[in-house]
Amino acid sequence: GAGLYIVATPIGNLGDITLRAVDVLKRAALIACEDTRVTGKLLKAVGADARMQRYDDHASEDTRRRILDRARAEPVALVSDAGTPLVSDPGYRLVREAREEGIAVTTIPGPCAAIAGLTLAGLPNDRFLFAGFLPVKEKARGEILQELGEVDATLVFYETGPRLVRSLEAMAGVWPKREVAVARELTKLHEECRTGIAADLAAHYAAHPPKGEIVLLVGPPVAAPSTADPDALLAQALEEMSPS
Ligand code: SAM
Repeated sequence: GAGLYIVATPIGNLGDITLRAVDVLKRAALIACEDTRVTGKLLKAVGADARMQRYDDHASEDTRRRILDRARAEPVALVSDAGTPLVSDPGYRLVREAREEGIAVTTIPGPCAAIAGLTLAGLPNDRFLFAGFLPVKEKARGEILQELGEVDATLVFYETGPRLVRSLEAMAGVWPKREVAVARELTKLHEECRTGIAADLAAHYAAHPPKGEIVLLVGPPVAAPSTADPDALLAQALEEMSPS
């Protein structure tokens, strides 16, 4: 039926497209996307040939209006270059306005790099906080790390190869003991997930500059020893007493 369909697409492996995604992409009267070349390839691969409209949240009110008017009458899909729309990707304003106007909004869930990273890292998953991309500027980055340091959860960041080492070095400064995971090229041929403390990972990637796309994860703050564990309490007391 008519409405706005939020369609997740593969993050590297075409086989991850869902049956529902293929169905909606074939039925859509219009597909709003970030880059018509990227989405054009996907459409070709799944045998869809809908009209495409470039869209991001900075698009003119006019562009958004045209997409929403269309969605009122016909099925319209929103996709991003890869993964789940709206997760560090465009779509928030479109969905918001569609809802305000009573246009049906449906989600077709699927691949999402943040979630894929969480499933590989072996870090606690009962509580996690998705923090998107870190700011590039050192001061802003330091402030965010300070703020996130208080959160009792696994932290999930999107990262790029050229910035990975700097981010790891900054993390080593504030969280020297927390467990970190670098999940790279997920679902692709050279998928890799490397874990350790931030300083060790920074040294590794300084020597082996990482290619491709990266999810950076940080385990929860290192727990103080539980009062139920007398051995750990004793060990900590001894460590604090020993002159260093
Ligand atoms: N909306 C997308 C999603 O749901 O995964 C994320 C879009 S964001 C603009 C792009 C970032 O996602 C990349 O810089 C990288 O951090 C992460 N990413 C996307 N694909 C990835 C992959 N195959 N492996 C690791 N990280 C990936």
